[in-house]
Amino acid sequence: MSIEEKFNKEMLELYQTVGKTTGYWANYYLRSVRKNGGLAHAKKALSKKNDAQEGFKKLIEVGRPDLSIEATVLKERYKKLFSNDELKEAQRRIDTVPEYAWRKPMNANNNFFGEINNENLYIEGSIKKVVVNKYERNIEARKKCLEKHGYKCKVCKMSFEDTYGEIGKEFIHVHHIKPLAGIAKEYKLNPEKDLIPVCPNCHAMLHTYDPPLSVEELQNKLREKVNKLLERNI
Ligand SMILES: [Zn+2]
Ligand SMILES: [Zn+2]
Repeated sequence: MSIEEKFNKEMLELYQTVGKTTGYWANYYLRSVRKNGGLAHAKKALSKKNDAQEGFKKLIEVGRPDLSIEATVLKERYKKLFSNDELKEAQRRIDTVPEYAWRKPMNANNNFFGEINNENLYIEGSIKKVVVNKYERNIEARKKCLEKHGYKCKVCKMSFEDTYGEIGKEFIHVHHIKPLAGIAKEYKLNPEKDLIPVCPNCHAMLHTYDPPLSVEELQNKLREKVNKLLERNI
């Protein structure tokens, strides 16, 4: 596969990854990449110097500028596909992204979301960052989510009742999958779509990043580990 083909493939994968991890399905982007190819689309996007760059802004809002065209263009392996001006423009845009907007690993020792007396919000500069997601604590929303999805962890499929018997009955955490940074004030929670049951282990692991990992990302990590263990046993 040539570098250009690899780039095109990665641009198509971006559509899927962004959709799955942020709920933002950029259909215009997909149509254009399919029609013109990823490289042509990226070059076009970089040529509009003063344009609104809606997609880029949206990705900053949801805390995933790392999934932008700009960040992809600047990957070492793709740089030779672009002119100096194009690279400069991509870098200029990346430089406008505030520090807090990048997805970052959470300090494990500050990751107290499972503890009951934790505050819902803390303030970082003027930006409200939600550490303990209030939607995950809402009793009614939680009930609706569990009626729909049951009590098995969506990531590892573990059930507390199957594992621990009677005492594990109806025990599970719920996790809010929408990135909070991108949520508007008037956001209305859909408990069946936006909340999922997860075991506390997987819940903690989802929150090792902010915005959190997606179910699929965590399952991939789990699979890698399980596959390695299986290989060793053969
Ligand atoms: Zn789990
Ligand atoms: Zn959560």
